[in-house]
Amino acid sequence: MNREECNGVFVYIEQKNGNIQNVSLELLGKAQELAGNLNQEVTAVVVGSDVAGVDKLAHYGADNIIYTNNDDLKLYMTEPYTKVLAKVIEDKKPEIFLFGATAIGRDLAPRLAGRIHTGLTADCTSLEINEENKDLMMTRPAFGGNIMATIVCPDHRPQMATVRPGVMKKAVPDMDKVVEIEDFAVEIKAEDKTYEILEVVNEVSEKMDIQEAKILVSGGRGVGTAENFEKLARLADELGGIVSSSRATVDSGVMPKEVQVGQTGKTVRPDLYVACGISGAIQHLAGMEESEFIVAINKDETAPIFDVADLGIVGDVNKVLPALVEELKMAKV
Ligand code: FAD
Repeated sequence: MNREECNGVFVYIEQKNGNIQNVSLELLGKAQELAGNLNQEVTAVVVGSDVAGVDKLAHYGADNIIYTNNDDLKLYMTEPYTKVLAKVIEDKKPEIFLFGATAIGRDLAPRLAGRIHTGLTADCTSLEINEENKDLMMTRPAFGGNIMATIVCPDHRPQMATVRPGVMKKAVPDMDKVVEIEDFAVEIKAEDKTYEILEVVNEVSEKMDIQEAKILVSGGRGVGTAENFEKLARLADELGGIVSSSRATVDSGVMPKEVQVGQTGKTVRPDLYVACGISGAIQHLAGMEESEFIVAINKDETAPIFDVADLGIVGDVNKVLPALVEELKMAKV
């Protein structure tokens, strides 16, 4: 597909059990900005069966909505979904197509890019339009996170990228915006399904995901032991938040991988992020620097975490944390 015939910023709207996933709304926010720079429109592409709130995609930035509503597409499957999206691309010729770097996005986007012979940049942390030639500049960490590589796809269209959840910001919803939903029918034949899903078993977790939390109290090597992490848990309880951690404490087996913040962990954007005994390595900052308000507690006043902190406390976490908990308890009396 050559660049002259292509137009529009498309976002794949991921749904699970008919519920639209947050990452897709975040991507619509970014798509709106990119489309503004290109003077083009944003199109949301929904594939599934009886997906809830498709019309609401307009509130988050979609100018057009394409919806393939088909019982055969209720559960995600690589081949049938690739077939639908390849048809969307053939018919609509988008300039840019964005996906969440989720388990589904990481499976679907490369298969689709291969099918339509274009490039894909995975796991982007930033997307910008080149002012001069209007190409999409897709930036992601490379070589073990030691450099940030900006990748372009000048010769093929659409330009495709996956972006991790939590990296982009949702647009402020415009509740008055209404757009028409285009019914995009695609027939799914038995031979389009290369496997059969017998049962879906959902992982049961009683803990809140750190990406959903409004307040995170995060610990690093300076906190050290599981016993010391109890002090963080007490502060998190007082603040109404939950505990997360740096990779150092995950690697040492003190904390589980699911609470790791950073480049190889999760990207978080809470209202309050309290970094305790975390030095502020670039790979950690990549996952939390967009937090609304950052408090850092570290005994080394030159620690890089203080460069991104809104409030810094130079001191020993073992003394500062219990004192903070006491102060908060007193404030409630
Ligand atoms: P340290 O860097 O050792 O810092 C400990 C800090 O605690 C120091 O600043 C020290 O002054 C302070 N301290 C010590 N004792 C106390 C005390 N009693 N009171 C107060 N402060 C104290 N890291 C991540 O976090 N997330 C990632 O996703 C991630 N991905 C990576 C991917 C790659 C490819 C690579 C190469 C690295 C990655 N890392 C990641 C690792 C990262 O480079 C750092 O090694 C890591 O973040 C350090 O964790 P830390 O800040 O807990 O430990």
